[in-house]
Amino acid sequence: MEFSETVLVLQVGQFKESDLWVHFLSPSRGSLSAFAFGGSRSRRRFVGCLDIFNEIKVRVSSSLRTPYFALQEGLLVRGVSRLRRDRQRLGVAVNCARFLQSFGVQPEGADKAYFLLRETIRALEELEQPPKLLPLFFRARLAFDQGYALSLSRCSHCGRELSGTYVRLLMREGQVTCPACAAFSNDSRLPLGPDALSALQTLHVLPPGDWHGLNLPALAAREFSLAVDAFVSYHVGIFWKDGRFVRH
Ligand SMILES: [Zn+2]
Repeated sequence: MEFSETVLVLQVGQFKESDLWVHFLSPSRGSLSAFAFGGSRSRRRFVGCLDIFNEIKVRVSSSLRTPYFALQEGLLVRGVSRLRRDRQRLGVAVNCARFLQSFGVQPEGADKAYFLLRETIRALEELEQPPKLLPLFFRARLAFDQGYALSLSRCSHCGRELSGTYVRLLMREGQVTCPACAAFSNDSRLPLGPDALSALQTLHVLPPGDWHGLNLPALAAREFSLAVDAFVSYHVGIFWKDGRFVRH
């Protein structure tokens, strides 16, 4: 079997003396790994391609005899330059990529995940001031897009409209309620003020290039961060431990 596609490079590592392994995100197949045999020597087949966050057009093959993919050749479609010079921006992008790798994107959600990461990388390349909460925006949006969307416009218990009010996120239920209904629940409750709630609502549709418009005051930023980390940990099963994302 063989396919050609433009993919995003997520990670590259050395394997034996002249071979590389490459973890990449395909817009139709999700996150995959492949070997690039001779990749660290063959400049002709992989001209300037095999670097993290490059968009590359690759020809990939597999056979029944070998249980892995092999990159046959690659062509650089779009590289990054600012991320290579700015370690802080690169660190943010790597954090997003590692979260996505822990998430493990399947073919049915691959197109949305590809768009999200590609646009996040472009935002980190182009925005003068990327938002401080960008990694959390990314985690929330990836979870929403991959089937963990939160219903945020109405109280999940009484149906009351919620915009502009202080609400509670019920952890186990993964639902948002008004304070009155939350009082009757024995679920863990996380408070979300109007700004944090509005940011979560907006994130369902706002593309990464416009995330700099989500300016949250300090308290709202804290509420937002706690809610996203707790939600992702409880429902997706991914949390941060010893400097990396791990899955329950
Ligand atoms: Zn209610």
